[in-house]
Amino acid sequence: VVHYEKISKTYGDLQVLKEIDLDIAPGEKVALIGPSGSGKTTLARLLMTLEEPTSGTIQVDGELLWHQMVNGKLVKANEKHLHKIRNKIGMVFQHFNLFPHMTILRNVTAAPIHVLGMTRDDAEKQAVTMLEKVGLGDKLDAYPAQLSGGQKQRVAIARALVMRPKIMLFDEPTSALDPELVGEVLEVIKEIAHEGEMAMLLITHEMDFARDVADRVVFFDEGHIIEQGPPREIFHNPQSARLQNFLSRFR
Ligand code: ATP
Repeated sequence: VVHYEKISKTYGDLQVLKEIDLDIAPGEKVALIGPSGSGKTTLARLLMTLEEPTSGTIQVDGELLWHQMVNGKLVKANEKHLHKIRNKIGMVFQHFNLFPHMTILRNVTAAPIHVLGMTRDDAEKQAVTMLEKVGLGDKLDAYPAQLSGGQKQRVAIARALVMRPKIMLFDEPTSALDPELVGEVLEVIKEIAHEGEMAMLLITHEMDFARDVADRVVFFDEGHIIEQGPPREIFHNPQSARLQNFLSRFR
């Protein structure tokens, strides 16, 4: 569902990503681990079209994000094209960015109504289903300020799910939470992962979580993929000194 090909990204003199090739199959759960500053967020931001690569291509669901052929000529994707592709990607960030003046239900129905053109009735039905799934069926009429950080993050997850994305992107979804709220959010993500149908790209510093959820773990350092494989190989039999050293910090 996602295909990165020879992706490089440079900020000034700093090459953050170096010819990355990465494929994510439909329904596959991929955890991205690696030291701070290694380029994980940049890889996610490229997928969300918040950044443009310096070179290389990215496809989502078979469609090129940045360039396409028109009459045999390569042209940059326009905003309308990007908009269509973005709708296939659900995103959950560190900070939840809920609309403070809207109820929880309205926060979740806004995009299906205004972006997908769903009727309010349909959108509310779907939103209630998703809010129940994340354990917030009793908070429909609450406002974000009345919720804990963990509950807000679960609303953000429901809001992404209601768009029925092909892939969900989680960028350190628990790193802004108080430690006692981390578990409930990881639990919800695990449940969604085990339902299976959606692909996931998870950037995380929670190694136990990566082990439980991921089909494949990708270890990233200094803009390269150093090692990748099933969780049991990556965590129990790391090959490179860099990965061994990285993992030793979590023991
Ligand atoms: P973390 O785990 O801390 O989030 P990361 O692996 O996600 O780290 P990135 O956020 O992708 O790392 O950052 C990689 C490098 O690129 C860092 O050195 C960062 O300072 C740099 N960088 C990121 N965005 C920009 C930007 N807009 N302009 C200049 N440098 C940037």
